[in-house]
Amino acid sequence: MYTIKGKTGDWEVVIGLETHIEVLSNSKIFSGASAHYNPTVAPNTQVSMVDAAMPGMLPVLNEYCVDQAIKFGLGINAEISRVSRFARKQYFYPDLPQGYQISQPADQPPVVGRGWIEILDDDGNPKKILIERAHMEQDAAKNKHDMHPTKSFVDLNRSGVMLLEIVTFLDTKNPENNSYISSPDEAERYLRKIREIARALGVSKANMEEGSMRADVNVSVRRVGDKKFGTRTETKNMVSFKFIKTAIEYEAHRQVEILENGGTVTQDTMRFNQGDGTTSVLRSKEDALDYRYFPDPDLLPLVIDDERIERIRKTMPELPEATRARYIEKFGLNEYDAIRLTETIDISHWFDTAVGDKPERAKSVANWMISELFAHPENYDIENQKSGIVDGMRIITPSDLAELVDMISANEINGKQAKEIFIKMLDGEIGSPKNIADKFGMKQMTDASAIEKVIDEVIANNPAQVEQYKSGKVGLFGFFVGSVMKATGGKANPAIVNEIMKKKLS
Ligand code: ADP
Ligand code: MG
Repeated sequence: MYTIKGKTGDWEVVIGLETHIEVLSNSKIFSGASAHYNPTVAPNTQVSMVDAAMPGMLPVLNEYCVDQAIKFGLGINAEISRVSRFARKQYFYPDLPQGYQISQPADQPPVVGRGWIEILDDDGNPKKILIERAHMEQDAAKNKHDMHPTKSFVDLNRSGVMLLEIVTFLDTKNPENNSYISSPDEAERYLRKIREIARALGVSKANMEEGSMRADVNVSVRRVGDKKFGTRTETKNMVSFKFIKTAIEYEAHRQVEILENGGTVTQDTMRFNQGDGTTSVLRSKEDALDYRYFPDPDLLPLVIDDERIERIRKTMPELPEATRARYIEKFGLNEYDAIRLTETIDISHWFDTAVGDKPERAKSVANWMISELFAHPENYDIENQKSGIVDGMRIITPSDLAELVDMISANEINGKQAKEIFIKMLDGEIGSPKNIADKFGMKQMTDASAIEKVIDEVIANNPAQVEQYKSGKVGLFGFFVGSVMKATGGKANPAIVNEIMKKKLS
């Protein structure tokens, strides 16, 4: 268990995360404007009257956005509410032209209810993290302060893009239920898992650097063994795993120090200072905003039936966790390889395509991908699986690798020749591995009598080494095999060479 060692004892850290992910869809949650928000699009070019909050405009719910929320909910093992509502969360800010954000009410079940995901705790054991809810809401626009020394601008392109806010659960009625995040590393693992699920399902890019994933971090501390949870603070708008961990550590230590000196923690909202890794108070509880939530009169309750949920469930791809389990059980891969091959859904798709209906290929395909292909990312088009020459690079396809691996196991070529073919492909040879082998005359020598002839020559030409070998210097065996491989231009089948050589020398 992660603890903080104070002057007067050990303290446990309790963490709650509110994670926003920007949801992928063609249009915004309540308007038809493009939701392909990205900072390179010219400002204010993807804005409808609804997003600009022109008087009299009415929001129309984008059903695809609802499907995305349901899909994510199923991905985190959550209950999907059959009825949920939209509410106005009211506050003023220049990036919010409506004067309110359409969200789902804080005190009623949103579209995605109670769920959970599994992460590894700091001892490497599986741990369930409970999720309280995930609700749909609009993103705000973006203020721009850095284009002019004395003016600020508002870009409405992001206004109305859908966000899903995922909130972890803390069982305050049952404080011994430890299914919450309790260390900085667990927080990172939780966020990575959320990102993995969102990406695998095509619900969000969930990219912190790009701003399509951000988190508010709630932290409190309590003495190890204490029943009651402590008072928490909330650090807003964190956009890097590293900063999130730093903020948690800083906040937890700060709170321990206050408590050990007889003070009390106040439930403040904090900002994180990137420069020195500290937090400072943004606003105190007394200044807490009262958002005056009320039901949005322009939107009907969102009603979802079983049929819709089942339809969405059927379209869901296998999640990386299940893929990993399949690779380990069905293909006998080790855990490390299974993790590498499921880093993205495109990588596992590439691997599955190469393995095809021949599970016996899986181990070699995995080895080649991890030890060779991953070193040349420009040579495989993991996303689109194109073939031929792309941007001047010879793309190695899943079927290329499958063919190469099959040639080795059929004894048509040996490992050394396979490597040569692979390098030729990297260098731009466009034929299939079979064609390349033909073109360069790479055929494995498997004729035992021909190999025996070469072995006899090697033995005859090295009488001194044979003498040494027979008098106990068995390390020389490799020298003999190597000489045969050299004499055959690397073409001899190493297994056959070994077998005959052993007989001849004994
Ligand atoms: P709000 O909506 O006011 O931010 P919530 O009750 O929804 O508050 O909680 C937000 C997050 O803070 C949740 O993830 C919750 O689990 C977490 N949280 C609540 N109490 C504590 C606490 N004492 N220590 C740490 N996290 C907490
Ligand atoms: Mg909050």
